[in-house]
Amino acid sequence: MDLRDELQHAIDEAGVPARAIVIETAWDIGPVAAYLLPEAPVTLVDSGVDTPQGRAAISDTLASCGLRPEDVERVLVTHMHSDHFGGATWLQEVSGCEVLLHPADLAMVGAVNSKDAAREMLMPLGFDEEIFARFTEDEWTWRPPTFGAMGSRYGDLRVEHHPGHSPGHVWIVHERSGGIFVGDYLLANGPTNAGMEIDRTNRYGRAPLLQQYNAGLLELRESMAPVLLPAHGPPITDHVALIDKRLAKSNRRTRHVLDGLASGGPTTVLALGRKLWGSRVENNWEVLADLVGRLDLLVAEGNASAQMGEDGCWYFRANA
Ligand SMILES: [Zn+2]
Repeated sequence: MDLRDELQHAIDEAGVPARAIVIETAWDIGPVAAYLLPEAPVTLVDSGVDTPQGRAAISDTLASCGLRPEDVERVLVTHMHSDHFGGATWLQEVSGCEVLLHPADLAMVGAVNSKDAAREMLMPLGFDEEIFARFTEDEWTWRPPTFGAMGSRYGDLRVEHHPGHSPGHVWIVHERSGGIFVGDYLLANGPTNAGMEIDRTNRYGRAPLLQQYNAGLLELRESMAPVLLPAHGPPITDHVALIDKRLAKSNRRTRHVLDGLASGGPTTVLALGRKLWGSRVENNWEVLADLVGRLDLLVAEGNASAQMGEDGCWYFRANA
């Protein structure tokens, strides 16, 4: 069974009135899923990347329900990463549909391309100009849709805000069936990165995304949902076991970071990252974001402390 059939089978079993759409991407993450809710008002949860195959997949799925792209009224975007809303620019052009993002992610859209914001967050991690340039190379060259602010309910769909992976990540719950569109919050194929974003209201200048993400997983664990419909990979029907596995691995990784901290003096993020994972931390956003998230978590839990050095870098150390 291919991925689309597998998703559709789970959707039908759970009684969610939706059609799965699978769109190929050029990235390591593989294909991205979007979901059509064909009952009026015609709604999409996410819209994939904008490619000829993506447009065809959306159009074909609409056609299978007797609909056209012009009929789409609303796109609910689970979070601000471009593989989830790239296709919405085209859809909005042909249909005038509203494209909605949670306000906490809307606030980030402007900051995504801002080098000043990136500098404010990255340089205190121990960056130099060369490494900074590596992390800020790819800016969007395409036009995003015009976003509106997502509310908390659309008919049978309840929007739940769960920061982690992005500050404005949402789960969209189909109340009648209990099925949840979880975006990237939980994926069967591999762990979700909690992400790293600027937050000037926080003492350390960053949103506490890993902490929030872990809290969200615990909440999701309590859910009686018959199926979780993710944006990547197969449907999830045994989320409790999967969440337990993710949390156990996450705890081991946090412990590994604490051990690394404890075996040396105060260190910048980058210096600790090199010690633990070599140059990967200088080249891979996910490795860096994961490390920063674990350090912030250790500080929040009282196992580590952070102090701004005279050189403008944060220095972390393990608490005795
Ligand atoms: Zn994502």
